[in-house]
Amino acid sequence: MATEFVPPRVYRTDRRSPLRWLWSHARRHSWLFLLMFLGALGNGLAMGFIPMWTGRAFDALTSHPPRWEGVLRAAGMVAGLYALRAGLMLMRNFSAETIAQRMERDVRDEFYTALLGKSMAFHDRIPVGEIMARATNDVREINLMFAPGLNLVVGSLMFLFMPLVLGPRYHPALVAVPGVFLVGYVVLLFLYLRALAPLSMQVRKTFGRLSTHINEVLDGIETVKALGQEDYEIQRVERRTRAYRDAVIRQGYEEAKFWPFLFFSIALAAGAFHSLYLFWQGHLSVGDVVGYVGLLQLLRFPTFVSQFAYAQVALGLASARRLLEHLNFETPLDHNPQGYAGAMRGDVEFRDVWFGYEPDKPVLKGISFRVRAGMRVAIVGPTGAGKSTLVKLINRTYDVDRGAVLVDGIDVRDWNLGALRSQIAIIEQDVFLFSRSVRENIAFGKPDATQEEVETAARWAQAHQFILNLPRGYDSRVGERGVALSGGQRQRIALARAFLTDPRILILDDATSAIDSETEDEIQKAIFQVARGRTTFIITHRLSQIRWADWILVLEGGRLVAQGTHEDLLRTCEVYRRLFQLPLADAALLLPGRNGGHRASTAEEDGKET
Ligand code: ADP
Repeated sequence: MATEFVPPRVYRTDRRSPLRWLWSHARRHSWLFLLMFLGALGNGLAMGFIPMWTGRAFDALTSHPPRWEGVLRAAGMVAGLYALRAGLMLMRNFSAETIAQRMERDVRDEFYTALLGKSMAFHDRIPVGEIMARATNDVREINLMFAPGLNLVVGSLMFLFMPLVLGPRYHPALVAVPGVFLVGYVVLLFLYLRALAPLSMQVRKTFGRLSTHINEVLDGIETVKALGQEDYEIQRVERRTRAYRDAVIRQGYEEAKFWPFLFFSIALAAGAFHSLYLFWQGHLSVGDVVGYVGLLQLLRFPTFVSQFAYAQVALGLASARRLLEHLNFETPLDHNPQGYAGAMRGDVEFRDVWFGYEPDKPVLKGISFRVRAGMRVAIVGPTGAGKSTLVKLINRTYDVDRGAVLVDGIDVRDWNLGALRSQIAIIEQDVFLFSRSVRENIAFGKPDATQEEVETAARWAQAHQFILNLPRGYDSRVGERGVALSGGQRQRIALARAFLTDPRILILDDATSAIDSETEDEIQKAIFQVARGRTTFIITHRLSQIRWADWILVLEGGRLVAQGTHEDLLRTCEVYRRLFQLPLADAALLLPGRNGGHRASTAEEDGKET
């Protein structure tokens, strides 16, 4: 028996803000963060001492006579520091990369798990393209945020402070250039990031629009072709592509005008001038000047990195916010694992049910009816009356706004959702088949079904014959949307799928209207077979199916305007007669026992056949 989806892993993350959320993931890798910080710190220190030792080598070389052992010691230190640095950088980069990959995996897991657990209200409202953009791009951004983003930010921070800390060791006045640089750097970086943020946002937005658009066009490609709108759609995609290109160029322009670089060059020149002046005054040695200028060179790394690393971190945060928007989308559906989970009989009752997809716009208004287990119920009414909506309340695809839906006398909200849904099968108008084999599609609700069970189900659903005629029988793959199969064939596969799960309540949103009459009879037969012994709701316009029903609900404008048997309704209900476009006098023709219209008598036979 199919059971309700149970997430493979439950993620307990703090979803109150992007930072808290990322932290609740990141903290699980705290020792990697420690390694990354230690690596960055050590690397920065090593890089600070390398120019100092280079300076000492100069001093040793320029003394009279040259102190060769001093030169050798300095050379040995520089070599040793570079070797140490290599190890530390490896540690830092390895940790950052591991963190980044693990973050991406965890975030993707959490996001995907959450998506499958979302209510239909969520999936109705958010286009698939939009979800896909977040599930792919934004999840990827979280990865890049940690490596290279955070890795470079942390790695370059030490470099920023080394000249400030070590410079004054030569002469206290040498704090000036690194000090001024630090202040100017922070201000310029702040201005740069502030100018860049809206442009990056624009890049993401235009890309989102582009991918949503392409997704939608491909999804509706049949319609596009049928209406000959290819040219128009190509133009529209072109417009979106151009908008994306323009946004990227604007962002690139801002990045190109990166002031901190110029500022760094000025600082380097000023520092060289300052130290040479002190040398001329006799306060510094040649080695000190070399060491100091070497220290200032360290500022190149943070300057270079800040052009993209901070923006990368900011992008990651923005992506985290976008992912959280979906994660935090309210899911009013309560799975109620403690709820009633017994075997179902199949009694269904609606008690003054009100429901709307949007607040204050009720689609169903005060529906009340009751059917006993095993009854065959037809739901009729004009398009948009709320028929499909009504049946979706039975398995809690949606929850009522007011009133209650009861199955076996128990409010559906008090059922264990898994138990409820696994005993109800809905066959939608537009049958969805996965691009897997026919067998897997039939066994979708019961993956461990044997071949025999699958075939039995297919026989009951009148599908066995045509499946055998497919190129590879039950192993034939179905196209992405089942395009290789006709509407009638898909519907019979859906019926087989339903039969296999042996539901107590079967719901059919019938769409046989576009099917030729021979197939129609097959489907009719399949429906009648599969429905046997189950409470069946069938949304239909077909007289044969209506006649087959024990009870008929007539819906109009969201209200249940009448209910009863076919004969009663023909006599008493104007709306019902209108459905068949019959004046009262002709309605009699549809009643049994007369020489009725052709469809009526065929329908009678259909009914008997089963
Ligand atoms: P029927 O099955 O009788 O044709 P439906 O139940 O499909 O009627 O639709 C009833 C009303 O609800 C219609 O006005 C329709 O536009 C609206 N509706 C149906 N599905 C949705 C949905 N997923 N989101 C918003 N409105 C919907």
